[in-house]
Amino acid sequence: MSRKPIIAGNWKMNNNSQKSVELIKGLKSGLDDINASLLPEVVVAPVFTSLYAVNEELNKCAYSKIALAAQNCYYQDHGAYTGEISIDMLKDFNMTYIIIGHSERRQYFGETDEMINQKAKAILANGLLPIICCGETLEQREQGITDKHISNQIMQALEGISSEDTAKSVIAYEPIWAIGTGKTCDADEANRVIKMIRETVKNLKGENAANSIRILYGGSVKPETIEEQMAKSDIDGALVGGASLKADSFAKIVKGAMAKASV
Ligand code: PEP
Repeated sequence: MSRKPIIAGNWKMNNNSQKSVELIKGLKSGLDDINASLLPEVVVAPVFTSLYAVNEELNKCAYSKIALAAQNCYYQDHGAYTGEISIDMLKDFNMTYIIIGHSERRQYFGETDEMINQKAKAILANGLLPIICCGETLEQREQGITDKHISNQIMQALEGISSEDTAKSVIAYEPIWAIGTGKTCDADEANRVIKMIRETVKNLKGENAANSIRILYGGSVKPETIEEQMAKSDIDGALVGGASLKADSFAKIVKGAMAKASV
């Protein structure tokens, strides 16, 4: 079963509008010479305040090779939720994906599995696609409970979501000890965990959902690591933090996924 790979850049809390536009211009020119059909899906997730400017920049070409993601959302449509942004509001910016459950949101902002499930359901109901993050801490890995912890996160995130909607969704396996540390998870081990996630999806939502859902690896992905990671059977792409903040390194990562994109 061939799944279109995704390379997604999570810019986190970096770059004002001007810097975001410079970065997207750099990325556009880095991918200029490549036919879109040969590329993986390329996604960037700027901060909310840069979405307008980045979307304007992307709209300057008739066909953009780059899709937009938000880094978070709230699951209610509107109302007295000071400081929050709804999915409908994000649709103003031509959004395709919304990242939910990133470990930084879980750790610093108290995002729970239940909230992640509510967000996933609301995103799909609004016609967008969630990128659902999961992953274990170093302590959980050392205790030998990685698989149990992650399958539990996936079970809760997908609760009440149909097989069809699951098939369209995206999961990012991001071992927390590999995020922003420069330590990548061994590619065989990342593939093993991702296979385990796919098996969990199969048990919950059936074979078609498991074969269709794209599962990315995230955690210190660099231009030097991407080809080995993409060569693994079940790794369908990457969620990239630090290395997505430089146009040339992100373009190299995108290009490193091209072999799988054209299969
Ligand atoms: C991330 O924040 O999702 C991430 C994977 O970051 P980094 O690539 O910097 O480890």
